[in-house]
Amino acid sequence: MKPSITNMNGILVKYGNIKIALDPHNPQGVDVVFVSHAHLDHMYNVKSEVKVLTSAETAFLARERGYDLGETMDESSGFQLMDSGHILGSCGLLIGGEVFYTGDLALRPRAFLKRGKSVKCDVLIIESTYGMDHFLFPPLEKVLDEVNRLISDLFSRGIPVVLMGYPLGKAQVLSYLFSSWEPVYVHESVQRMNEAHAKMGIGLNNFVSYQEAKEKGLLMRKPWILISPVWSGRTNFIKGLKDRYNAVTVAFSGWSVEPSYKYAMGFDHAFPMSDHCDFDELVRFVKECNPKKVYTVHGFSSELASRLKKLGYDASPLLGSQRSLDESL
Ligand SMILES: [Zn+2]
Repeated sequence: MKPSITNMNGILVKYGNIKIALDPHNPQGVDVVFVSHAHLDHMYNVKSEVKVLTSAETAFLARERGYDLGETMDESSGFQLMDSGHILGSCGLLIGGEVFYTGDLALRPRAFLKRGKSVKCDVLIIESTYGMDHFLFPPLEKVLDEVNRLISDLFSRGIPVVLMGYPLGKAQVLSYLFSSWEPVYVHESVQRMNEAHAKMGIGLNNFVSYQEAKEKGLLMRKPWILISPVWSGRTNFIKGLKDRYNAVTVAFSGWSVEPSYKYAMGFDHAFPMSDHCDFDELVRFVKECNPKKVYTVHGFSSELASRLKKLGYDASPLLGSQRSLDESL
């Protein structure tokens, strides 16, 4: 079957008689909507009777974030959801055993997250957030070792540490990976998502919230770790933590491979720990899927497509309503 694929309002796949919208913003006139994961750029309230394919975890996390995806299903004839390793519940979608959309993708097991799954397909639609060849991330163990050494050094001098990651996804990975330090406090937005993970059976410690720690005077007893959303060093919240407690900020993002990132954002430290593939992993994933045609979406889609062409693949960027290049929320 020859599918037609466009990227106007989200990605639209026409497969036989069926129109499937992949991570749309405002889907209209389609038969199936697929929501790959619960980051806010994929969230909306479903008003129509359209069939929404998503994982049970994504439907749950959406509700916890105040979105109603309507009646959802995590399986349907002709469709297969594939774990994409990006955040809890994130999936790619295999359509008719031929067309595979990755959604946001990560190939490194991290904390409670597994490697994203590849599958042989004819047409691959792959995300390309870090689709340029200088985006190469060190092994997770190396990053953890460096960060634990840094925390150890700061703690020995009584200096508190603010670990920053997006409230859904990265913050839970940080909550898991750095739980052996004491005490750890979490910002309320992180606490809400940690609790949602706990309800889904992910074993995360029940950390005291920042607000409670502040009210009880616990923050005066240094050092401590705070797991916080990503805020630039120029925000009042971070400035307050620095003025009052002399806290040091540590951000986690694939963008930290760019030397300017840490300075532009005003972070004290930044480490390349990502919920996306680095460049080599994107190429490896394409090889594993061995598609006849590759479409690249989001981020450095043109750059990744041209590199894949040099490797002998029929690859094109699927341009259109490009979403944020940021790692998302
Ligand atoms: Zn995402």
